[in-house]
Amino acid sequence: MSLFGFPQPKQWKGKDLPRVLSRLFDVKDGHTLAVAKSHGAYSTISKVLFDRAPFQIINEVMDSGLRGRGGAGFPTGMKWSFVPRGGQKPVYLVINADEGEPGTFKDRMCLMRDPHLLIEGMICTGYALGVRTAYIFVRGEMLPQIQALNHAIKEAYDAGLLGENIAGSRYSLDIYVHRGAGAYICGEETGLINALEGYKGQPRLKPPFPAISGAFAAPTVVNNVETIMAVPWILTHGAKAYRQWGTDKSPGSKLFSISGDIAKPGVYEVPLAMPYMEFFELCGGLTGELLGCIPGGSSAPVLTAEETKKTTMDYESLAAAKSMLGSGAITPFNTTRDPVLILQSIARFYAHESCGQCTPCREGTGYVDRVIDSLVDGHGRDGDAEFIKSLADQYEPMTTICAFGPGAAWPVQSFVTKFKSHFDAYIAKNPKHADKRDLVTVRPGAFW
Ligand code: SF4
Repeated sequence: MSLFGFPQPKQWKGKDLPRVLSRLFDVKDGHTLAVAKSHGAYSTISKVLFDRAPFQIINEVMDSGLRGRGGAGFPTGMKWSFVPRGGQKPVYLVINADEGEPGTFKDRMCLMRDPHLLIEGMICTGYALGVRTAYIFVRGEMLPQIQALNHAIKEAYDAGLLGENIAGSRYSLDIYVHRGAGAYICGEETGLINALEGYKGQPRLKPPFPAISGAFAAPTVVNNVETIMAVPWILTHGAKAYRQWGTDKSPGSKLFSISGDIAKPGVYEVPLAMPYMEFFELCGGLTGELLGCIPGGSSAPVLTAEETKKTTMDYESLAAAKSMLGSGAITPFNTTRDPVLILQSIARFYAHESCGQCTPCREGTGYVDRVIDSLVDGHGRDGDAEFIKSLADQYEPMTTICAFGPGAAWPVQSFVTKFKSHFDAYIAKNPKHADKRDLVTVRPGAFW
């Protein structure tokens, strides 16, 4: 049952849908150890901890082609291979559960419905990387998820599945849940590490990368919840089985959270590379005539209806469409919606969430937000659409410490370019639209 009350479909067009991640989503009390174990939870750790060497696990995950599901899509096995072995410092594993991108709600579903799969994945990953201490960094507002996690961790300790000598093996692991304070930027791995250490959640300049010097100046791997939850299935069934779904460069299944103008919003696990239009059908169909679609979270460049119809849900297809899969949050919108108001909402979010370290990001996102507000309030003037885009162009090309700057610019650039007539309509509504306006004073001090 999804967060919206719609059950996960089991089949699509006569074929079974994958159940790598969502096996227990519809199972009553699937979050408890007893029920999870009755469905096979923790069966992987005996194979891993007793029968396999750490390098074999890294190789298997590398062969599977699993890519990070938080947004960047970096190959997981390769990320793990960067961690130096046999050094003096401990290696830390940090799970990024700071889900905060508008439209994305898959990780909170995982934490509520199957926290033991995450713990099992962390045991396998921790063993592969030589980790003794691991953290789960959870968005502070997600209280039910934090309670579910803490309950599951206690159950695992009580059952000898965490702590010293897990399940009688020589491997030991402790897991701590760390609550964030609700800043989107803590989803960026170095911002997250800063916050974990007790500092402001502001990203760090890279290099050094976390794999070399991360939490507490020690080698650290930061992985998304969904990424680590795929690991037990891969180790049980093998890399080849995982590649039965998706494409060569985007193998496997993925959780997609869909909201917007769709009949059955929710979280769905489907093979990568499914066509967007087919996915909409699986989710009960679009409501209304499609105008556009945000294909991978609010920072992904928007697609027009025509582009959406030609695109599949995988990394390459979206790159070819000059957008991205991101966190897998899909928001189709119909012809009754106003793209200017959608962008206004997105721009407000990014202006609010900029951590403020870099001038182009801090000033640019706020400036864009204020000009869009001015346009919507009836004070648009000739050239505003071009002006908004030119501002975004200045914080897009990695002139900033982290990728937040580009991520905040992409929706602005794409909405203004692809739905320009909607912006021009606002300008035309202003009878004095050719008047000069001092843009710096538009809604001064909105955020600072
Ligand atoms: Fe902070 Fe923005 Fe700079 Fe990232 S790009 S460090 S969010 S100011």
